[in-house]
Amino acid sequence: MDIQTLATSVQNGDRRALARAITLVESARSDHRAQAAELLEALASSGRQALRIGLSGTPGVGKSTFIESFGMMLLGQGLRVAVLAVDPSSARSGGSILGDKTRMDRLARERDAFIRPSPSQTHLGGVARRSREAVAVCEAAGFDVVLIETVGVGQSETVVAQMADLFILLLAPAGGDELQGVKRGIMEMADLILVNKADGDLKSAATRTMADYAGALRLLRKRPQDPDGFPKALAISALEESGLQGAWDEMSALVEWRREEGFFNRTRAEQARFWFEEDVRQALLARLSEAGPLRDAMDELGASVAQGKVTPAFAAQHMQELLKG
Ligand code: GDP
Repeated sequence: MDIQTLATSVQNGDRRALARAITLVESARSDHRAQAAELLEALASSGRQALRIGLSGTPGVGKSTFIESFGMMLLGQGLRVAVLAVDPSSARSGGSILGDKTRMDRLARERDAFIRPSPSQTHLGGVARRSREAVAVCEAAGFDVVLIETVGVGQSETVVAQMADLFILLLAPAGGDELQGVKRGIMEMADLILVNKADGDLKSAATRTMADYAGALRLLRKRPQDPDGFPKALAISALEESGLQGAWDEMSALVEWRREEGFFNRTRAEQARFWFEEDVRQALLARLSEAGPLRDAMDELGASVAQGKVTPAFAAQHMQELLKG
């Protein structure tokens, strides 16, 4: 496969080339990794930039309904939309919460939309890198907005926030007057909280929930990358397609402010450095788990430590010597 030709086809908007390019960056084979690196280097020269929006929420909150109606709205405004998924479930169970093909079928049929289910992988670090590289491929292919979806179950939000310009938390209306079990750390990452299902019988509960979260957000420490009034909570209905334009207006205003103040590029630069370092870390870890002398030494030293023959400190020191060699 000629990588330069593939890169050119991706940049020209060839959908099959796009799918092939993403398959390449998702591959774990070492010869594919070298080609993927060459491809990403070639694509970077396009200088195209999409708005990367991370979206998280628990199963059933309405993520696919939201992505479909929000995506259709953006298409209606002449924007091209790509949807990628970071699915932590595939790591554990082999099953997938996200990315099954029956979701978002309206959007899936659109020429200016592209939907990619989550790569199935063995660990979140691997999924994360592949997703981030898939985002880069979509950017070079000229998409204006890349939505990166994940399930709100913990670690994956952090990973998605690290590859997004905006991080959105989708919540359902709460039954009682208590805040839902949203971890503080997740709240702190959110640029916008959207309380979905603000329609029918759920409308007043959604409005109450929105007010509760707006209050909770005001109690958080102010972040430098936020203008006054952010992060915000809004009530929407993905089903009835209400509040979506308002949400987009808020996102656009926030991004514009961050661009003007320099936070947008600074965050991207920090993320790029983070992913470089993460890649190196993952490669080092991979060396320890691949069959070979290093793994044998880990196994042997691990057994000796477990038997109390040597201390963990001594064994770790020994491993360090081996790693140098
Ligand atoms: P996901 O698991 O987060 O992707 O959630 P889905 O988009 O599959 O939605 C889960 C359920 O909630 C489905 O039955 C949807 O029809 C419903 N749902 C999604 N958005 C809304 C909404 O805005 N209002 C109402 N009433 N139901 C919704």
